[in-house]
Amino acid sequence: MITLFTPIEQIAGIGPVYQKRLKKMGVKTIRDILYLFPHRYEDFSNIKPISKIKINETACIAGKILEIKDTRTWKKKMVLTEAIIQDKTGAIKAIWFYQPYLTRYLKIGDNVCMAGKVTLTKNGISLNNPSYEKISAINDLTHTGRIVSIYPETQGLSSRWLRYIIKNLLMSFKNIPEILPQKIIDDNNFLPIDKALQQIHFPDKIELSEKAKKRFSFEQLFLIQLTVLKERMFLNQQTAVSMPIDITLIKKFVETFSFKLTDAQRKCSWQILKDLEKSRPMNRLLQGDVGSGKTLVALIAALQTIKSKHQVAFMAPTEILSKQHFKEVSTRFQNFNINVGLLTGKEDKFISKKLKNQTIEISRRKLLEKTKEKEMDILIGTHALIQDKVKFGDLGLVILDEQHRFGVEQRAKLGAKQNGKSAIPHLLSMTATPIPRTLALTIYGDLDLSLIDELPKGRKKIITKLVPPLERKKTYTFIKQQVKKGRQVFVICPRIEKTPSSASAEATAGKEKTKLNNWDDVKTVKEEYEELSKKIFPDLKIEMIHGKMTPKEKEKIMLNFSGKKKATRRPDILVSTSVIEVGIDIPNATVMVIEGAERFGLSQLHQFRGRVGRAKYQSHCFLFTDSHSIKTHQRLKALISSENGFDLAEKDLKIRGPGDFTGTRQWGIPDIAMDSLKDITLVEKTRESAKQILEQDPELKNLPALCERLQKFQQKIHLE
Ligand code: ADP
Ligand code: MG
Repeated sequence: MITLFTPIEQIAGIGPVYQKRLKKMGVKTIRDILYLFPHRYEDFSNIKPISKIKINETACIAGKILEIKDTRTWKKKMVLTEAIIQDKTGAIKAIWFYQPYLTRYLKIGDNVCMAGKVTLTKNGISLNNPSYEKISAINDLTHTGRIVSIYPETQGLSSRWLRYIIKNLLMSFKNIPEILPQKIIDDNNFLPIDKALQQIHFPDKIELSEKAKKRFSFEQLFLIQLTVLKERMFLNQQTAVSMPIDITLIKKFVETFSFKLTDAQRKCSWQILKDLEKSRPMNRLLQGDVGSGKTLVALIAALQTIKSKHQVAFMAPTEILSKQHFKEVSTRFQNFNINVGLLTGKEDKFISKKLKNQTIEISRRKLLEKTKEKEMDILIGTHALIQDKVKFGDLGLVILDEQHRFGVEQRAKLGAKQNGKSAIPHLLSMTATPIPRTLALTIYGDLDLSLIDELPKGRKKIITKLVPPLERKKTYTFIKQQVKKGRQVFVICPRIEKTPSSASAEATAGKEKTKLNNWDDVKTVKEEYEELSKKIFPDLKIEMIHGKMTPKEKEKIMLNFSGKKKATRRPDILVSTSVIEVGIDIPNATVMVIEGAERFGLSQLHQFRGRVGRAKYQSHCFLFTDSHSIKTHQRLKALISSENGFDLAEKDLKIRGPGDFTGTRQWGIPDIAMDSLKDITLVEKTRESAKQILEQDPELKNLPALCERLQKFQQKIHLE
């Protein structure tokens, strides 16, 4: 029996080649195919008499083939198929290029429908490369004579092929089980699933395709919400180790800082410590702008955990950041008799540390042994931390820095590693990505939120300026002065290098030149590095860093730039791509130059800016753009006037949509739902609906189709 979950191998008409292409897009089942949605439509529904069509319009006609033949162009290079089609009012020529198989399919006398652009050349009026199909008594039209769906044609899957397959599937497969509860359909006036599928692929009217799209946007978000809420329910039934607050200890720790915690840091620490006291697993997101001091809050939680005789795993997104955290953690904990370990991925360099700030390198085997034997108190690393090989003896707390989603399953797996006990570790996830609450709950999972909404006192506001091209020199003079004072500078460029393809394309496509030049004007790291080190600042030491370098190379450069490596001269300027974005801490850096600023989102620009102004020095951020677009200038002005990441994120969300929020990708959300994430009201609505459903029927017993769909959905996410 065919179901939605029948694998594509079992569908007649999909051979091995297409199976492979589909798999590349993650399409494995019938359902996956049906959920490949068109990204736009072409309206061919108005079939015109041939005598009425006009030059340059896209028209659809119907008639009989009077003539059809293959010819070759005068250069003898290309096969040209020509046909004459006649209706009651007249006749017109149709021309196709490179489609010799057409004459095997279309024959003289066939009744056909054609849709395409009406063009006038010296040989007269013709339809160029029109869509075509035979008119038959049995089948209605698929590719012409109606509103026709156009799919994103990737992986060699043409719209024509997809329409053909999807149409057959929809015809042969009538009882598609409804997954949305009837009440939701009624309340929102949604199309039922079979009708919605029909209308999104083969709409009778554009409005119906819109209606179908609404339903599917809802559906996707609804599934995400259900996943997140179910995980929450699962977690609430689990136990975690409860760790009573030791106020004296925490006070002692905080007193070792050379500054006072901000009120927001205090408030958040307290919320977290309160959570750790409970025997229910904490699930908390610590949100705070760059430089707001999240790490220390996390360390307070870590200290509490370690002193309660449990272990901590601290995960960072990159090796550079892991190392940075390792240094900070070992310094901060140096008088607290705590073992700190660093486990990195590719580099096979492991350090364990006991007391008195003395670092020793140990083998990975030993490091894993210490982790298992509970000798390791806190282990820092990248994703390498959740490999199967890493077994914690008694993991009490997982800290995630900018890791985004971390499924309950992964977490349960970590917890299961605990000797004998089936407790789940507490989770603290940290992010500087300031996103609206509802979206945060959706993307990161159903977490409690703690917000550090103030920056440490005494931080000087970073002076942000949009520099007109003519004042570039002034900026360079300013940079020289800063370097003279001992400060350091970042220069961000949108690209690493010019792609060879754009250079060669320029030679061939004269007309496109202005467009391509536009790309060629973008500053690249490699060129800017040359320019700055040879022409502008020949006396200064300049380095570059970008994503094409190996982690080892990048790390070396960051280490040099941080000035911690005494042997080499510390660079004054670092030219970089956006790799510098997250978390890098160089307190001595005071100038951030951003080239091609229009190419970055507001949140991203704000992150860049957060790389300077991390110490007492007055810092500057200079934005350069060649763009004259009003929208760009509005956006950049927003950055200049606001220093609040959350405001900027709201603005960004409105202007650009949530595509900029890393993390959303991990859900594998289809484009139509990505779009709907912009719609916070819809996000809230789906969340509310999911909540109601689960309250009435936590196991979804009365909604078997939804239950099945949800399971498949979760499998898919967790495999990613
Ligand atoms: P982020 O929230 O971006 O991760 P960090 O935790 O890296 O911020 O902190 C940024 C810098 O501010 C660090 O050098 C840290 O030591 C310092 N810092 C943290 N809290 C305070 C505070 N209350 N007062 C002054 N400096 C602080
Ligand atoms: Mg940080």
